[in-house]
Amino acid sequence: MTNTKSKLPLVRDTIFSEMSHLAQQSKAINLGQGFPDYQPDQELLNAVCQAIQSGPNQYAPMTGVPALRQVIHDKVIAHQACHYDVDTDITVTSGATEALTSTILALVHPGDEVVLIDPAYDLYEPVVTLAGGQSIRVGMIPPTEKKHSFSIDWDAISDAINSKTRLLILNFPHNPTGVILQEKDLDALEQIASRHDFLILSDEAYEHIVFEGERHVSPASRPMLATRCVLVSSFAKTLHATAWKIGYCCAPTDISKEIRKVHQYAVYSVNTPIQMGIAAYLKQTQAIRSLSAFYQKKRDRLVSGLHSTKLKPLHAEGTFFLLVDARELGGFSEKELAVFLTRQAGVATIPVSAFYADSQSPNANHHLLRLCFAKQDTTLDAAVERLSGL
Ligand code: PMP
Ligand code: GLN
Repeated sequence: MTNTKSKLPLVRDTIFSEMSHLAQQSKAINLGQGFPDYQPDQELLNAVCQAIQSGPNQYAPMTGVPALRQVIHDKVIAHQACHYDVDTDITVTSGATEALTSTILALVHPGDEVVLIDPAYDLYEPVVTLAGGQSIRVGMIPPTEKKHSFSIDWDAISDAINSKTRLLILNFPHNPTGVILQEKDLDALEQIASRHDFLILSDEAYEHIVFEGERHVSPASRPMLATRCVLVSSFAKTLHATAWKIGYCCAPTDISKEIRKVHQYAVYSVNTPIQMGIAAYLKQTQAIRSLSAFYQKKRDRLVSGLHSTKLKPLHAEGTFFLLVDARELGGFSEKELAVFLTRQAGVATIPVSAFYADSQSPNANHHLLRLCFAKQDTTLDAAVERLSGL
């Protein structure tokens, strides 16, 4: 008998894998796990193929291909007016996933507290546990009859932060609620930061998907916050290529140095030709500029289709996710609703309760399901038709 003394006894397959599996089994349309059902831009595919053909097809530098680090540098300056040194402060990682994991493992010490905002992306808490830290989960304010979206509770975040807090993990534009940060949120964050000495891990995987002409503001856009912030992002959503697993983190030199120590031994370096292809493509395309408009159309198409169903859409300010209120279907838990819809209506979704520490708790169940609209219009329309028949 082997001695499998688990470090993460409570961890199971993620809700994303679980619902994708159920969708496949049930031949359901998969609006659960967040990934597009269409190809990335042909020019990007050409650039990556070209990079594979012409090489190099050998190890990239541990910190990332210089051309891609330069592109990331220029992009962060253009969007957030924040300067990172290309050689010392920017690291290309295996998706945002690895950037987040390497950062938490590098920065959190046993006994440290890490503040997470519920609903929270599933990765954060298990990795904090691996690092020996303790997750302190602070809820967002759930939607009401009057306000059809979640809101950030800065007072509660402030109350949760104390001298033991090592890290505050933010994720805006927010998965799953679609909430974005406003300048007033950064004001509130600066106030808290002026009173306590903690680091910020800002997961900005959906940075380029923000609606109604708003723009994403990163904590790193404020010099006072940038000195303590690790900015993490990914090309998965921005380039419609979740399979490629290319992400990055930007942080002041002393923090980057520690993150790289973990990155070096977790993966060493990341796929060279894909980095080269992305760098070449991003140098000559304006595609990122039109991404928000592209997704806003899809959001609006899904919202207007859902009016003929029992699922009531909330407001989404960003990301490619839409929350719907499913209470008209009956008083089930969100997980039961999601399983029922997958099996009976043939549309897979994600229960928002899965983003809470205890998904069974009444505080985690607001009758909400998450729908991914990174899908072809025909897929969205077919899903709406199935849901209308409920
Ligand atoms: N953070 C958030 C909030 C996400 O939704 C995801 C998944 N798309 C990731 C990180 C992981 O990104 P990647 O696929 O680049 O590892
Ligand atoms: N981030 C994706 C989502 O929220 C899932 C990625 C994954 O399956 N780990 O759907």
